[in-house]
Amino acid sequence: MYCYDFHVVLQEVPGEVSLCFTISGCPLRCQGCHSPFLWKEGSGTKINRQTYIEILNRYLGLATCVVFMGGEWHLKELMFYLEHAKKNGYKTCLYTGLDEVPSKLLQHLTYLKTGPWIKELGGLESKTTNQKFKEVKTNKILNHLFIPN
Ligand code: SF4
Repeated sequence: MYCYDFHVVLQEVPGEVSLCFTISGCPLRCQGCHSPFLWKEGSGTKINRQTYIEILNRYLGLATCVVFMGGEWHLKELMFYLEHAKKNGYKTCLYTGLDEVPSKLLQHLTYLKTGPWIKELGGLESKTTNQKFKEVKTNKILNHLFIPN
């Protein structure tokens, strides 16, 4: 699993300070993709468990959530990272372009954003979007948190 970049972000999960890992190798090829540099498998730095654990330890008490942008095509590895985050008190979130993810992945997720990018419909901040952001445990759609007043 290769990480294209890592940032601390505030908007991807409303109300949370998130450690965001962007994973390369996206197989979905959405038309008009805003990040085609993520298509190439192997772009960025290979994530290593030790470095990941160190990052999470460093932000304990400062950040509240761990977000993966993609990576569901490395199911076993992604599950390890999510499980570790949860065990250490972080909430977890996956942004995927798929409409569904395997149920064994769901058990490690607090939040899930699904749906491919479709330019005419817009992203989560759009009322017409095909994408969904939900709390996994309750299945509650939280898109309204992204729509500006
Ligand atoms: S899921 Fe995201 S990164 Fe992948 S092709 Fe679609 S818009 Fe691009």
